[in-house]
Amino acid sequence: MTSPHPLDETDPLASKKNAFTIPEGVIYLDGNSLGVLPKHVPDRIADVIGTEWGTSLIRAWNTHSWIDLPQRTGDRIGRLIGAPSGTVVACDSTSVNVFKVLSAALSLNPDRRIILSDNGNFPTDLYVASGLKELLVRGHELKIVAPEEVEASLDDQVAVMMLTQVDYRTGRVHDMKTLTRKAHDAGAIAIWDLAHSAGAIEVDLAGADADFAIGCGYKYLNGGPGAPAFLYVAARHLDQVTSPLTGWMGHEAPFAFDLDYRPVSGINRMTVGTPAILALSSLHAALDVFEDVDMASIRAKSVSLSELFISEVEARCPQLTLASPRNADERGSQVSFRFEEGYAVMQALIAGGVIGDFRAPDVMRFGFTPLYLSHQDVVDAVAVLEEILNTGSWDRPEFKTRAKVT
Ligand SMILES: *Cc1c(COP(=O)(O)O)cnc(C)c1O
Repeated sequence: MTSPHPLDETDPLASKKNAFTIPEGVIYLDGNSLGVLPKHVPDRIADVIGTEWGTSLIRAWNTHSWIDLPQRTGDRIGRLIGAPSGTVVACDSTSVNVFKVLSAALSLNPDRRIILSDNGNFPTDLYVASGLKELLVRGHELKIVAPEEVEASLDDQVAVMMLTQVDYRTGRVHDMKTLTRKAHDAGAIAIWDLAHSAGAIEVDLAGADADFAIGCGYKYLNGGPGAPAFLYVAARHLDQVTSPLTGWMGHEAPFAFDLDYRPVSGINRMTVGTPAILALSSLHAALDVFEDVDMASIRAKSVSLSELFISEVEARCPQLTLASPRNADERGSQVSFRFEEGYAVMQALIAGGVIGDFRAPDVMRFGFTPLYLSHQDVVDAVAVLEEILNTGSWDRPEFKTRAKVT
């Protein structure tokens, strides 16, 4: 494609792109859904399989500290989300972690019955809340309001406020610090889903006084397809919380093989079964790329890429309508545009080497990952989009057949 954009010449993160495997001819605007492969990860995984598993065998649980990999990985993620060492663990999926923290939070507030969330939440979080409330049979109610009504809905009935910080469709960001304070003032516990926040925007869980958080390993953290998720418990709750899934990895002495369950002190009590070492090793290694950068510079570049994208699209593709907040402070690291035939346009874009995704009913979603995207990529991507819209090349049957995964 064309010569570098002037903003790339002064970009302190420009060289980070070399740390990733990006297929020839692809501009990847979907790191909010599945992050790109860091170049060193395949060798690391080959070593875990060939050397650690292959030759150390069961001894590797001790000799290669496999047993501590969930916390070691959690601590690396903690640094990116303002969580002190020992308060984050990498385990299970985000959905399973929602189940565990919501149950733990409800037990900390046993006299109240309302779980408050909003209709911008990712459905799996709401499905899990609904299933848990049925299972508990204690009269809990899941109250779902509009995002802007959350604050006014915090009353003395709310046990838990459970929100996703960055809306997966529009990128709209909730004010974590203010809402957490309001929740606490109302006597509620605050759970934050950081699926679209971790590795994408600056998060300060401890500073915001959040009670619990969960999030995804395979989006901005680049841990690989289906990578383990993470889970945070505020230090002040660590020795009070109870997991509803009391597996042996959360036991005080798993290898004592006692018949009674006694939770270990600390974050490990929120773990369940044997950690998925191959998947965790991939996530742990992928986090290397964050070691020498801070979230402030990632955020600054994310805003710069997103602002450029919005101005380019609005200048060159007037057929599309901005679905994300215009103010960068209210937006995560993604930009969405509405277009009635957005699905077909997105398929045509992907065929043209620009990969974003689509969320029903009409949202075309573009993720901006400062570690492996340049300003030139943004300009080049919009050129492809403009061409598709102006020629109508999206209007073909092959672009309208819905795949299983959109
Ligand atoms: C991506 C995402 C999930 C995904 O959960 P899985 O259990 O990994 O499938 C959950 N919650 C939110 C808010 C998400 O954005």
